Amino acid sequence: MNKKILFGVIFILGLVCVQPALAIPDAKVPILMYHYIRNYHSPKDKIGERLSVSPADFAAQLDLIQRAGYQTAVFADAATTSPRLPSKTIILTFDDGYRDFYTAAFPELKKRRMKAVVYPIYSVIGTSDYLTKEMITEMLASGLVEIGSHTLNHLDLTHLKPAKLQAEVFQSKLNLERDFGIKILSLCYPYGIYDRAVIAAAKRAGYLYALDTKTGQGDWASPYEMKRYRVDDSTNLAGLLRALGGPSK
Ligand SMILES: [Zn+2]
Repeated sequence: MNKKILFGVIFILGLVCVQPALAIPDAKVPILMYHYIRNYHSPKDKIGERLSVSPADFAAQLDLIQRAGYQTAVFADAATTSPRLPSKTIILTFDDGYRDFYTAAFPELKKRRMKAVVYPIYSVIGTSDYLTKEMITEMLASGLVEIGSHTLNHLDLTHLKPAKLQAEVFQSKLNLERDFGIKILSLCYPYGIYDRAVIAAAKRAGYLYALDTKTGQGDWASPYEMKRYRVDDSTNLAGLLRALGGPSK
């Protein structure tokens, strides 16, 4: 065997041996979208009821996610793993920054050392029913919770004049970064509504990721249009995880 062929064989053997040791990143990641974690029954507020997952159901869902072999991650993890996360990663997101995230969801996440990303609406932080700055500070210190921006006032961003759009998208990021001494990586579009101008504003503001409300997996190749799976009072999470795992599982 001549030297060239020998080196070739050694090189290929090396590749074959090293490959399984590397975590192969997925091009897509399932992102779950939650709103309220509470026991809530109100015939007059069907939408609020719909958006509520009971604390008991939520705890069971976290157990299910763990049993299915998923690791939770936040966007800071993605930003440091160039830029994808390993297989079997899931991202849990909570829109609007309701106070029940602190009282009902965070304790269950903490028990299991699971991570989540919360999107407070800046103008209502500290008002009744919403997270306070102190709660957010405490949760950030746990290393389990990341926050992103859900803008200043939760408006339809496609109907704003450029200066107002800039304030909603960029100023909210600056305010959160100033208040909590952190870098804000992701934006959650209010109502999931956006257009090209909104995406451009998100990029200009320095966000690395922006979240949609359309159904599907988050695609790292489209970081400003990351789809999610809504979890509400009727979601069959076991079925969803089975579907994500592919037909063989
Ligand atoms: Zn919202």
